[in-house]
Amino acid sequence: MRWFLWVDLDAYYVSCELRDRPDLLGRPVIVGPDPREGPSRGVVLSASYEARAQGVHSAMPVAQAGRLSPEATWIRPDHAKYERISEEVRALLRTKYPFLRPQSIDEVIVEFEAEAPEQVDSEARALQTMIGTRANLPASVGASTYRIVAKIASDRAKPAGVRVVPPAEVAAFLAPLPVRAIPGVGPKTEALLRDHQVETIGQMAPGLPPALRRMLGSFAREIVALARGQPVEVEPDEETGPRSRSVDRTFDEDVGNADELSSAAIELARLLGDSLEREGLMFRSVSVAVRWEDFQRVQRGRTLPAYQHGPAALQLVAPRLVRELWSEERRGRRRRARLVSVRAERLRPAPSGQRDLDDFARPPED
Ligand SMILES: [Mg+2]
Repeated sequence: MRWFLWVDLDAYYVSCELRDRPDLLGRPVIVGPDPREGPSRGVVLSASYEARAQGVHSAMPVAQAGRLSPEATWIRPDHAKYERISEEVRALLRTKYPFLRPQSIDEVIVEFEAEAPEQVDSEARALQTMIGTRANLPASVGASTYRIVAKIASDRAKPAGVRVVPPAEVAAFLAPLPVRAIPGVGPKTEALLRDHQVETIGQMAPGLPPALRRMLGSFAREIVALARGQPVEVEPDEETGPRSRSVDRTFDEDVGNADELSSAAIELARLLGDSLEREGLMFRSVSVAVRWEDFQRVQRGRTLPAYQHGPAALQLVAPRLVRELWSEERRGRRRRARLVSVRAERLRPAPSGQRDLDDFARPPED
Protein backbone atom coordinates (compact mmCIF):
# COMPACT_ATOMS: atom_id res chain seq x y z
CA MET A 1 0.00 0.00 0.00
CA ARG A 2 1.28 3.47 -0.86
CA TRP A 3 1.39 5.93 2.03
CA PHE A 4 1.96 9.66 1.98
CA LEU A 5 4.07 11.07 4.77
CA TRP A 6 3.36 14.78 4.98
CA VAL A 7 6.38 16.40 6.61
CA ASP A 8 5.83 19.90 7.95
CA LEU A 9 8.69 21.75 9.63
CA ASP A 10 7.51 23.34 12.86
CA ALA A 11 7.58 27.14 13.26
CA TYR A 12 9.87 27.07 10.25
CA TYR A 13 11.37 30.57 10.08
CA VAL A 14 11.90 30.65 13.84
CA SER A 15 13.45 27.18 13.79
CA CYS A 16 15.87 28.25 11.04
CA GLU A 17 16.96 31.19 13.20
CA LEU A 18 17.31 29.03 16.32
CA ARG A 19 19.86 26.87 14.52
CA ASP A 20 22.14 29.91 14.61
CA ARG A 21 20.97 31.15 18.01
CA PRO A 22 20.66 28.10 20.29
CA ASP A 23 20.84 30.52 23.25
CA LEU A 24 17.25 31.50 22.38
CA LEU A 25 15.82 27.96 22.62
CA GLY A 26 12.88 27.79 25.00
CA ARG A 27 12.29 31.54 24.84
CA PRO A 28 9.70 33.63 23.02
CA VAL A 29 11.16 34.44 19.59
CA ILE A 30 9.38 36.25 16.77
CA VAL A 31 10.51 36.54 13.16
CA GLY A 32 9.23 39.81 11.70
CA PRO A 33 9.98 43.53 11.65
CA ASP A 34 10.69 44.68 15.24
CA PRO A 35 7.91 47.09 16.30
CA ARG A 36 10.31 48.86 18.68
CA GLU A 37 12.36 50.05 15.72
CA GLY A 38 9.61 52.43 14.70
CA PRO A 39 6.06 52.32 13.42
CA SER A 40 5.48 49.38 11.13
CA ARG A 41 2.43 47.94 9.46
CA GLY A 42 4.30 44.65 9.34
CA VAL A 43 3.06 41.30 10.51
CA VAL A 44 4.58 38.36 12.37
CA LEU A 45 5.99 35.80 9.96
CA SER A 46 6.59 33.08 12.49
CA ALA A 47 6.53 32.81 16.28
CA SER A 48 8.15 30.25 18.57
CA TYR A 49 5.80 28.04 20.55
CA GLU A 50 6.78 30.01 23.68
CA ALA A 51 5.56 33.21 21.99
CA ARG A 52 2.45 31.39 20.74
CA ALA A 53 1.64 30.44 24.32
CA GLN A 54 1.40 34.19 24.97
CA GLY A 55 -1.12 34.59 22.17
CA VAL A 56 1.22 35.58 19.33
CA HIS A 57 0.57 34.00 15.94
CA SER A 58 1.77 34.45 12.38
CA ALA A 59 0.12 37.21 10.32
CA MET A 60 -0.62 39.16 13.53
CA PRO A 61 0.31 42.87 13.36
CA VAL A 62 3.73 43.29 14.99
CA ALA A 63 2.56 46.04 17.36
CA GLN A 64 -0.02 43.70 18.85
CA ALA A 65 2.55 40.88 19.11
CA GLY A 66 4.93 43.27 20.89
CA ARG A 67 2.28 44.02 23.51
CA LEU A 68 1.45 40.33 24.07
CA SER A 69 5.08 39.27 24.36
CA PRO A 70 7.10 42.27 25.57
CA GLU A 71 10.23 40.19 26.32
CA ALA A 72 10.31 38.42 22.94
CA THR A 73 13.47 38.49 20.87
CA TRP A 74 12.73 39.85 17.39
CA ILE A 75 14.64 38.61 14.36
CA ARG A 76 14.58 40.18 10.89
CA PRO A 77 13.41 37.74 8.23
CA ASP A 78 16.18 36.31 6.06
CA HIS A 79 14.39 34.70 3.14
CA ALA A 80 17.54 33.60 1.34
CA LYS A 81 18.48 31.60 4.43
CA TYR A 82 15.03 29.96 4.61
CA GLU A 83 15.22 28.96 0.94
CA ARG A 84 18.72 27.55 1.42
CA ILE A 85 17.76 25.48 4.48
CA SER A 86 14.63 24.24 2.73
CA GLU A 87 16.78 22.96 -0.12
CA GLU A 88 19.16 21.40 2.42
CA VAL A 89 16.29 19.44 4.01
CA ARG A 90 15.06 18.21 0.62
CA ALA A 91 18.57 17.09 -0.32
CA LEU A 92 18.81 15.24 2.99
CA LEU A 93 15.46 13.49 2.46
CA ARG A 94 16.40 12.55 -1.10
CA THR A 95 19.31 10.52 0.21
CA LYS A 96 16.72 8.10 1.59
CA TYR A 97 13.46 8.67 -0.30
CA PRO A 98 13.49 8.95 -4.09
CA PHE A 99 9.88 10.15 -4.33
CA LEU A 100 9.61 13.59 -2.81
CA ARG A 101 6.95 16.11 -3.55
CA PRO A 102 7.82 19.51 -2.13
CA GLN A 103 4.65 21.44 -1.29
CA SER A 104 6.03 24.71 0.01
CA ILE A 105 9.15 26.07 1.61
CA ASP A 106 8.55 24.00 4.77
CA GLU A 107 6.38 21.10 3.63
CA VAL A 108 7.21 18.02 1.61
CA ILE A 109 5.41 14.77 0.90
CA VAL A 110 7.40 11.54 1.06
CA GLU A 111 5.92 8.43 -0.56
CA PHE A 112 6.41 5.19 1.26
CA GLU A 113 5.30 1.61 0.56
CA ALA A 114 4.12 -0.28 3.63
CA GLU A 115 1.34 -2.56 4.79
CA ALA A 116 1.05 -2.15 8.57
CA PRO A 117 0.35 1.28 10.09
CA GLU A 118 2.95 0.44 12.78
CA GLN A 119 5.60 0.26 10.08
CA VAL A 120 4.52 3.69 8.80
CA ASP A 121 4.66 5.06 12.32
CA SER A 122 8.23 3.93 12.87
CA GLU A 123 9.28 5.21 9.43
CA ALA A 124 7.73 8.60 10.23
CA ARG A 125 9.60 8.73 13.52
CA ALA A 126 12.88 7.77 11.86
CA LEU A 127 12.37 10.51 9.30
CA GLN A 128 11.60 13.02 12.02
CA THR A 129 14.76 12.01 13.89
CA MET A 130 16.83 12.34 10.72
CA ILE A 131 15.63 15.92 10.18
CA GLY A 132 16.12 16.65 13.88
CA THR A 133 19.67 15.35 14.15
CA ARG A 134 21.06 16.09 10.68
CA ALA A 135 19.29 19.37 9.86
CA ASN A 136 18.66 20.43 13.45
CA LEU A 137 15.02 21.30 12.77
CA PRO A 138 11.82 20.12 14.45
CA ALA A 139 9.22 18.52 12.17
CA SER A 140 5.76 17.03 12.44
CA VAL A 141 4.61 14.18 10.26
CA GLY A 142 1.10 13.14 9.24
CA ALA A 143 0.63 9.87 7.36
CA SER A 144 -2.26 8.50 5.36
CA THR A 145 -2.95 6.73 2.09
CA TYR A 146 -4.69 10.00 1.11
CA ARG A 147 -2.62 13.16 0.63
CA ILE A 148 -5.23 15.53 2.03
CA VAL A 149 -5.66 13.42 5.16
CA ALA A 150 -1.87 13.28 5.60
CA LYS A 151 -1.84 17.08 5.49
CA ILE A 152 -4.61 17.39 8.07
CA ALA A 153 -2.88 14.78 10.26
CA SER A 154 0.41 16.72 10.13
CA ASP A 155 -1.40 19.84 11.38
CA ARG A 156 -2.82 17.77 14.25
CA ALA A 157 0.61 16.32 15.08
CA LYS A 158 2.14 19.74 15.76
CA PRO A 159 4.51 20.40 17.36
CA ALA A 160 7.08 17.64 16.85
CA GLY A 161 4.51 14.85 16.68
CA VAL A 162 3.60 11.95 14.43
CA ARG A 163 0.06 11.04 13.47
CA VAL A 164 -0.71 7.99 11.36
CA VAL A 165 -4.30 7.59 10.11
CA PRO A 166 -5.03 4.11 8.69
CA PRO A 167 -7.51 4.06 5.75
CA ALA A 168 -10.31 2.50 7.82
CA GLU A 169 -10.01 5.23 10.45
CA VAL A 170 -10.15 8.30 8.19
CA ALA A 171 -13.80 9.20 8.85
CA ALA A 172 -13.46 8.69 12.61
CA PHE A 173 -10.26 10.74 12.71
CA LEU A 174 -11.87 13.64 10.84
CA ALA A 175 -15.32 13.57 12.45
CA PRO A 176 -14.58 15.65 15.60
CA LEU A 177 -12.34 18.20 13.84
CA PRO A 178 -13.61 21.71 13.10
CA VAL A 179 -14.37 22.38 9.42
CA ARG A 180 -11.45 24.84 9.37
CA ALA A 181 -9.08 21.84 9.61
CA ILE A 182 -9.80 21.19 5.91
CA PRO A 183 -7.32 22.91 3.58
CA GLY A 184 -9.30 25.40 1.53
CA VAL A 185 -11.92 26.10 4.20
CA GLY A 186 -11.21 29.68 5.24
CA PRO A 187 -13.08 32.05 7.53
CA LYS A 188 -15.76 32.78 4.91
CA THR A 189 -16.60 29.13 4.18
CA GLU A 190 -16.47 28.42 7.90
CA ALA A 191 -19.02 31.19 8.57
CA LEU A 192 -21.22 29.94 5.74
CA LEU A 193 -21.18 26.39 7.14
CA ARG A 194 -21.84 27.65 10.66
CA ASP A 195 -24.93 29.50 9.39
CA HIS A 196 -26.22 26.03 8.52
CA GLN A 197 -25.25 24.52 11.89
CA VAL A 198 -22.25 22.72 10.45
CA GLU A 199 -19.22 23.08 12.72
CA THR A 200 -17.38 19.76 12.57
CA ILE A 201 -16.27 17.67 9.62
CA GLY A 202 -18.40 14.76 10.87
CA GLN A 203 -21.55 16.87 10.56
CA MET A 204 -21.02 16.98 6.79
CA ALA A 205 -21.00 13.20 6.34
CA PRO A 206 -24.78 12.88 5.79
CA GLY A 207 -24.54 15.52 3.03
CA LEU A 208 -25.00 19.28 2.85
CA PRO A 209 -28.29 21.16 2.41
CA PRO A 210 -29.05 22.21 -1.22
CA ALA A 211 -28.45 25.92 -0.49
CA LEU A 212 -24.91 25.17 0.67
CA ARG A 213 -24.27 22.84 -2.24
CA ARG A 214 -25.25 25.62 -4.65
CA MET A 215 -22.95 28.12 -2.97
CA LEU A 216 -19.94 25.83 -2.63
CA GLY A 217 -20.19 24.13 -6.03
CA SER A 218 -17.87 21.19 -6.57
CA PHE A 219 -16.07 21.93 -3.30
CA ALA A 220 -19.23 20.73 -1.50
CA ARG A 221 -18.89 17.27 -3.08
CA GLU A 222 -15.21 17.15 -2.15
CA ILE A 223 -15.72 17.98 1.51
CA VAL A 224 -18.66 15.60 1.90
CA ALA A 225 -16.61 12.77 0.38
CA LEU A 226 -13.79 13.66 2.75
CA ALA A 227 -16.13 13.62 5.74
CA ARG A 228 -17.25 10.12 4.67
CA GLY A 229 -13.65 8.95 4.74
CA GLN A 230 -13.37 8.65 0.94
CA PRO A 231 -11.60 11.78 -0.27
CA VAL A 232 -11.51 12.34 -4.00
CA GLU A 233 -7.91 12.89 -4.99
CA VAL A 234 -6.66 13.90 -8.36
CA GLU A 235 -3.88 11.47 -9.17
CA PRO A 236 -0.88 13.16 -10.70
CA ASP A 237 0.29 11.38 -13.82
CA GLU A 238 2.03 8.14 -13.19
CA GLU A 239 5.55 9.05 -14.26
CA THR A 240 7.81 8.41 -11.32
CA GLY A 241 9.79 10.97 -9.41
CA PRO A 242 8.84 14.44 -8.29
CA ARG A 243 6.11 15.90 -10.52
CA SER A 244 6.34 19.51 -9.57
CA ARG A 245 8.24 21.86 -7.37
CA SER A 246 7.31 25.22 -5.97
CA VAL A 247 8.74 27.98 -3.88
CA ASP A 248 6.81 30.75 -2.25
CA ARG A 249 7.30 33.92 -0.32
CA THR A 250 5.08 35.52 2.27
CA PHE A 251 5.68 39.26 2.37
CA ASP A 252 6.55 41.09 5.56
CA GLU A 253 3.91 43.58 4.54
CA ASP A 254 1.16 43.04 1.99
CA VAL A 255 2.27 44.19 -1.43
CA GLY A 256 0.23 46.80 -3.30
CA ASN A 257 2.22 47.30 -6.49
CA ALA A 258 2.87 45.19 -9.55
CA ASP A 259 6.62 45.84 -9.77
CA GLU A 260 7.35 44.57 -6.30
CA LEU A 261 5.21 41.49 -6.83
CA SER A 262 6.80 40.68 -10.15
CA SER A 263 10.37 41.16 -8.89
CA ALA A 264 9.56 38.73 -6.06
CA ALA A 265 8.37 36.28 -8.73
CA ILE A 266 11.62 36.74 -10.70
CA GLU A 267 13.68 36.08 -7.57
CA LEU A 268 11.66 32.94 -6.72
CA ALA A 269 11.95 31.78 -10.33
CA ARG A 270 15.73 32.12 -10.11
CA LEU A 271 15.90 30.10 -6.87
CA LEU A 272 13.62 27.42 -8.24
CA GLY A 273 15.37 27.25 -11.63
CA ASP A 274 18.81 27.05 -10.02
CA SER A 275 17.79 24.27 -7.69
CA LEU A 276 16.15 22.22 -10.45
CA GLU A 277 19.19 22.69 -12.64
CA ARG A 278 21.51 21.49 -9.87
CA GLU A 279 19.39 18.37 -9.59
CA GLY A 280 19.33 17.80 -13.33
CA LEU A 281 15.58 18.29 -13.67
CA MET A 282 13.73 19.80 -16.62
CA PHE A 283 10.18 21.15 -16.58
CA ARG A 284 7.44 21.62 -19.13
CA SER A 285 5.04 24.07 -17.50
CA VAL A 286 5.11 26.99 -15.12
CA SER A 287 2.44 28.27 -12.81
CA VAL A 288 2.22 31.07 -10.30
CA ALA A 289 -0.14 31.67 -7.42
CA VAL A 290 -0.95 34.79 -5.46
CA ARG A 291 -2.67 34.83 -2.10
CA TRP A 292 -4.50 38.11 -1.54
CA GLU A 293 -4.74 39.88 1.79
CA ASP A 294 -8.06 38.13 2.57
CA PHE A 295 -6.29 34.76 1.98
CA GLN A 296 -8.09 34.02 -1.26
CA ARG A 297 -5.69 32.28 -3.63
CA VAL A 298 -5.61 32.64 -7.40
CA GLN A 299 -3.35 30.90 -9.83
CA ARG A 300 -2.39 30.84 -13.48
CA GLY A 301 -0.22 28.52 -15.51
CA ARG A 302 1.31 28.07 -18.93
CA THR A 303 2.66 25.08 -20.81
CA LEU A 304 5.93 25.78 -22.58
CA PRO A 305 6.57 24.74 -26.18
CA ALA A 306 9.36 22.40 -25.05
CA TYR A 307 11.06 21.06 -21.92
CA GLN A 308 13.30 23.69 -20.31
CA HIS A 309 16.15 23.64 -17.85
CA GLY A 310 17.60 26.34 -15.65
CA PRO A 311 16.08 29.62 -14.50
CA ALA A 312 15.76 31.52 -17.81
CA ALA A 313 12.31 30.36 -18.91
CA LEU A 314 10.97 30.53 -15.37
CA GLN A 315 12.25 34.08 -14.96
CA LEU A 316 10.57 35.06 -18.19
CA VAL A 317 7.19 33.41 -17.73
CA ALA A 318 6.56 33.67 -13.96
CA PRO A 319 6.52 37.51 -13.76
CA ARG A 320 4.30 37.65 -16.86
CA LEU A 321 1.76 35.34 -15.25
CA VAL A 322 1.93 37.35 -12.03
CA ARG A 323 1.25 40.58 -13.96
CA GLU A 324 -1.74 38.95 -15.65
CA LEU A 325 -3.19 37.98 -12.27
CA TRP A 326 -2.43 41.47 -11.01
CA SER A 327 -4.20 43.32 -13.82
CA GLU A 328 -7.22 41.07 -13.48
CA GLU A 329 -7.36 41.96 -9.79
CA ARG A 330 -7.01 45.69 -10.60
CA ARG A 331 -10.19 45.50 -12.64
CA GLY A 332 -12.03 44.03 -9.67
CA ARG A 333 -11.35 44.08 -5.96
CA ARG A 334 -7.84 45.60 -5.93
CA ARG A 335 -6.61 43.58 -2.98
CA ARG A 336 -2.98 43.59 -1.90
CA ALA A 337 -0.92 40.41 -2.07
CA ARG A 338 0.37 38.57 0.98
CA LEU A 339 2.09 35.68 -0.77
CA VAL A 340 3.39 34.75 -4.19
CA SER A 341 4.55 31.33 -5.35
CA VAL A 342 6.16 29.96 -8.48
CA ARG A 343 5.83 26.34 -9.53
CA ALA A 344 7.58 24.29 -12.20
CA GLU A 345 5.53 21.33 -13.35
CA ARG A 346 5.89 18.11 -15.32
CA LEU A 347 9.42 17.59 -14.09
CA ARG A 348 11.65 15.00 -15.66
CA PRO A 349 15.33 14.20 -15.44
CA ALA A 350 17.46 15.91 -18.07
CA PRO A 351 19.28 13.38 -20.24
CA SER A 352 22.99 13.62 -19.53
CA GLY A 353 24.64 16.08 -21.89
CA GLN A 354 21.26 17.65 -22.63
CA ARG A 355 22.43 21.04 -21.54
CA ASP A 356 25.28 21.14 -24.01
CA LEU A 357 23.14 19.84 -26.85
CA ASP A 358 20.53 22.52 -26.20
CA ASP A 359 23.18 25.20 -26.06
CA PHE A 360 24.50 24.15 -29.45
CA ALA A 361 21.02 23.91 -30.89
CA ARG A 362 20.08 27.40 -29.77
CA PRO A 363 20.03 29.89 -32.65
CA PRO A 364 22.64 32.65 -32.44
CA GLU A 365 21.44 35.67 -30.56
CA ASP A 366 20.72 38.93 -32.32
MG1 LIG B 1 5.43 24.46 8.95
